[in-house]
Amino acid sequence: MDALIRGLHHVTATVTDAQADLDFYVGLLGQRLVKKTVNFDNPGVYHFYYGNEAGEPGTIMTTFPYAGMGVRVGTKGAGQVETTSFSVPAAAMDFWRARLRTAGVPFTDAPTPFGEPSLRFDDPSGLRIRLVGVAADDRTPWTRPDIPAGQAIRGIHSVAMPVRLPAASVTLLTGMMDAVKADEAAGIERFGIGGAARPGAIVELVHAADTAPGVNGLGTVHHVAFAVATPEDQRRMQRELRAMGLQVTDVMDRQYFTSIYFREPNGVLYEIATMPPGFAIDEPLATLGRDLKLPPWEETRRALIEQHLPPVTY
Ligand code: ZN
Repeated sequence: MDALIRGLHHVTATVTDAQADLDFYVGLLGQRLVKKTVNFDNPGVYHFYYGNEAGEPGTIMTTFPYAGMGVRVGTKGAGQVETTSFSVPAAAMDFWRARLRTAGVPFTDAPTPFGEPSLRFDDPSGLRIRLVGVAADDRTPWTRPDIPAGQAIRGIHSVAMPVRLPAASVTLLTGMMDAVKADEAAGIERFGIGGAARPGAIVELVHAADTAPGVNGLGTVHHVAFAVATPEDQRRMQRELRAMGLQVTDVMDRQYFTSIYFREPNGVLYEIATMPPGFAIDEPLATLGRDLKLPPWEETRRALIEQHLPPVTY
């Protein structure tokens, strides 16, 4: 079978306060807000997309800020992405140490089990975030005066997920998701999609036989999405996953890509999303994220939707 999965596409989390989320991902981490829209399945809630200039697949973190909407606080545990790592130049670790200290964000400064320098901290909702220093990552970062190119985040580095029965997840990753085992240390198996474990294409399975299952809610990752190049590749993945007996959704129109979803054997919600058409489909690249964008089918309700969303600045 030809490789269909090109790497990670995005990570999506259920978070608390919209403004605190923007302050963290835009203000502190220096990501670009590439789309301000609503949760297509619940248009009373924002959906923020953060990434590099164009929000290229593999650089995208997305959040649903559910504060005040009656959503319970989630429980971290097995069967969900627990840590989302971003890639920064290894030479920029001192810059990020100083930036986190200045912002008053407590962090743990310790190498990953695979030897990379890393800083671990929580986002305002309690999501576990890690900056991993890497020697080479040729993705073009979003920059701004206080975070120049030599220091800026390149995109997502990896996701780490505790699983109770790793073997079944390994079989899916290596058999269907074009992943190759790259390394193993301290009860963590690292897989590279498409061969080498390059930043933006790394999945870590954390062996966690005795860990209770996580429950989605505020402060937890909802799903991780993998990238395919075309709608045809997506339909082929859908057929092949269904042939394995997995429950895979129909193709859903997410405006900036199309998606299918399924739960992998340990319960982690996986999405397979197309790389095109991208975020410039409904506003110019230069002003991505400036205005609230709604999918065409919600435009008739714009006034009502805008009235209920909290005002935010960024
Ligand atoms: Zn998604």
